[in-house]
Amino acid sequence: MRPDLAELDLGELEAALEARGFERFHARQLYRWIQKRGVTDFERMTDLPRSMRERLPSAFVLNTPQVVADHRSLDGTRKLMLELADGRRIEAVFIPDTPSMTFCISTQVGCAMACGFCLTGKMGLVRHLTAGEIVGQVRVLAAATGLLESPFNIVLMGMGEPLHNYEHTMKALRMLHAEQGLAVSPRRVTLSTVGIVPGLERLAREPLMPNLAVSLHATTDEQRSAVVPPNRKYPLAAILDACRRFPLRKRSRITFEYVLLEGVNDTPEDARRLAKLLSGIKSKVNLIPLNPSPGIPYRRPSDERVDRFVQILADRHLTVMVRKSRGRDIRAACGQLIVEGGTKKSAAQQMALLMGG
Ligand code: SAH
Repeated sequence: MRPDLAELDLGELEAALEARGFERFHARQLYRWIQKRGVTDFERMTDLPRSMRERLPSAFVLNTPQVVADHRSLDGTRKLMLELADGRRIEAVFIPDTPSMTFCISTQVGCAMACGFCLTGKMGLVRHLTAGEIVGQVRVLAAATGLLESPFNIVLMGMGEPLHNYEHTMKALRMLHAEQGLAVSPRRVTLSTVGIVPGLERLAREPLMPNLAVSLHATTDEQRSAVVPPNRKYPLAAILDACRRFPLRKRSRITFEYVLLEGVNDTPEDARRLAKLLSGIKSKVNLIPLNPSPGIPYRRPSDERVDRFVQILADRHLTVMVRKSRGRDIRAACGQLIVEGGTKKSAAQQMALLMGG
């Protein structure tokens, strides 16, 4: 088995080169070509000795997610459908000007959390993404948008639950942070979680700490368990407790995401309860009026209901914003990422299978 260079951090790359008879000091150059410049063709890695470039392909593979579809929204949002080495597909989204450039990337193929309003949740978990596949999405998005040399933000808000794929997700953040790579500051990364308490506690001890966003979505356990099933294991009090203990950087706050579902969690009582729950936590609230999809049994509240909810929180001195939904025309908005089928087989192959061919 040839190791995949895209999966290796700098230390692992040094060891892997040495183990296969290459000079260890070439690791930095190689890492730079792959992780900073997005180059995957060994022949283009011109500062490596020719003999090394020739021998690399027999010692290693270098996997990069392949763009199989590129949808552009009228608002500038782009949704890339990416195919992984095993043929599984994921989606990664580019959101311009919010206020800066943002990449929304996936951490799993599908998701095991099964939130009632989220399309990805309908897929179930197909598999975790590897660190190389998580980083690969950033490399591909940065190359596709011409941002390899410019700053951008990363939100782990695509498909999947990052704390359910803890090791690979954190390794990906370390690889992105490496100075020979894209040198992404953890301040530019936001990890969004449904609230897996042991994961939150582990995250609190990480040296490289991303910003934290917690998907709350309800103000009582009864309500929350009905829409966010993991709440049965990690109820509101336990999540908010972990948030209270979470070590925040100066001037930084935890974002609480709250999907507004008409008649379910968008009443004035909900808003008042939410304000109470968050008291004493350095927080900001990100309200997301539901992005509806066929098969999702909830409705998006009217602007009046949203405004009323905002007003109640603002009156209680909470920082609140309503997330503008981007890319809804190309189904790239929150909770609209889903890959049907999700295997490498082409339509023709699938047809052949169906027909018994
Ligand atoms: N698993 C992570 C990332 C999920 S996606 C988490 O739970 O936080 C990022 C956000 O989009 C989450 O807050 C999620 O609840 C929200 N979301 C999912 N489906 C949505 C929908 N249909 N409309 C609006 N927001 C949605």
